[in-house]
Amino acid sequence: MSGKVGLVSLGCPKAMVDSEAILTQLASAGYASWGAVADADVMIVNTCGFIDLARDESHAAIAAALDSHDKVIVTGCLGADADALRSRYPRLLAVTGPQAAAAVVDAVRAATPGEAGVEYLMGPAGIKLTPPHYAYLKISEGCNHRCSFCIIPKMRGKLRSRPIGEVLSEAERLVDQGARELLVIAQDTSAYGVDLKYAEDRHRGRSLASNLVTLVTELGKIAEWVRLHYVYPYPNVDDLIPLMVQGLALPYLDIPLQHGSPRLLKAMRRPQSSDKTLQRIEKWRDACPEIVLRSTFIVGFPGETQADFEMLLAFLEEAQLDRVGCFTYSDVEGAAANDFAGPIEESVKLDRQETLLELQAAISARRLQRYVGTSQAVLIDHVDGDRATARTRGDAPEIDGTVTVRGARRLRPGEFIVVKIDGADEHDLFGRYVGKPLKID
Ligand code: SF4
Repeated sequence: MSGKVGLVSLGCPKAMVDSEAILTQLASAGYASWGAVADADVMIVNTCGFIDLARDESHAAIAAALDSHDKVIVTGCLGADADALRSRYPRLLAVTGPQAAAAVVDAVRAATPGEAGVEYLMGPAGIKLTPPHYAYLKISEGCNHRCSFCIIPKMRGKLRSRPIGEVLSEAERLVDQGARELLVIAQDTSAYGVDLKYAEDRHRGRSLASNLVTLVTELGKIAEWVRLHYVYPYPNVDDLIPLMVQGLALPYLDIPLQHGSPRLLKAMRRPQSSDKTLQRIEKWRDACPEIVLRSTFIVGFPGETQADFEMLLAFLEEAQLDRVGCFTYSDVEGAAANDFAGPIEESVKLDRQETLLELQAAISARRLQRYVGTSQAVLIDHVDGDRATARTRGDAPEIDGTVTVRGARRLRPGEFIVVKIDGADEHDLFGRYVGKPLKID
């Protein structure tokens, strides 16, 4: 009989990929049960420590696991500070940092000696926490930047890219298991290969350079949809746009820009300037008019004046981004920005967030209108009777909008269909099923 292991997975898609690796290794070691099961012999909490809200959620999950279970292992970003966790929760069985699947499995083995040994059947791509038709593909770990509000480089270390052959082999396994959309993720996707000095690697008898353009080109031959997340607007990103035009990558970029004031970007120690970003966006749209741009911003960073904030609003007006997320700044234990002068009052942060989101809602609503009256190839996520929830090429799962499709009886999740769009609001589209597409790109 194998030991039962429960897992609570918190945080971003990058942490979810770590959870998938832990579950895959546990299953190969004979631990055949997972999920937040009440009768688990051992509970694992994969934590997130990005902002205070995420840390609070992680602490609540650890406390809840300790309330209901004797054996609790903590892993993930919060686990990077093992001493702090151990002194706060002396009953923890083990603490590991992020990307430590092997150490977690060792801790589970130590906690349930002699209980493993059941061969668990799973596909070659391992265990996934996403629906079968899409999958996250992590191409590197860590980050070489030192943004003043972020402790990820401290927790996850410097950039370490995976050799291109390894990434492509994983992509093939995911597609063989049913993935039709690959979501490329990293802390800093645009920096892929820098640490390897773009070294060549073998894949299926060919020598390929470990750089982003080669990687995306090859991924585009493997999967129907390839979506790029966490892309910083470095000059090399320009070279990805032709791949979007050729249908090798989706015309979509998730670029976390964080602010529009050059002074604030400097204080944030961000690797970009707002003027150059606007020029770059214009260039991308000239080359690929259908490109969809998603970004996130922080308001209320220490020292942010009303003039800085208005500069951010002006930036958004000019950039006309499709999708925008906005966070209010909060201190993160260990981040340089905690000591910066000029903390902003909570009420001011919230007012700025509301103003920004109101402005962006109007921009997003206007941008979505361009779909009305067109036919779009969409990927179905759910079907409920006559209605399906699907996504266009411009919508990433979980974070962007959806298309509500009428006339969807007999369709299934994971199918590509064509929808005639007949309505739009601030975030979502509405339409009617037309038929199956002849070709997906
Ligand atoms: S680029 Fe900045 S915000 Fe992103 S992970 Fe690196 S240090 Fe953190």
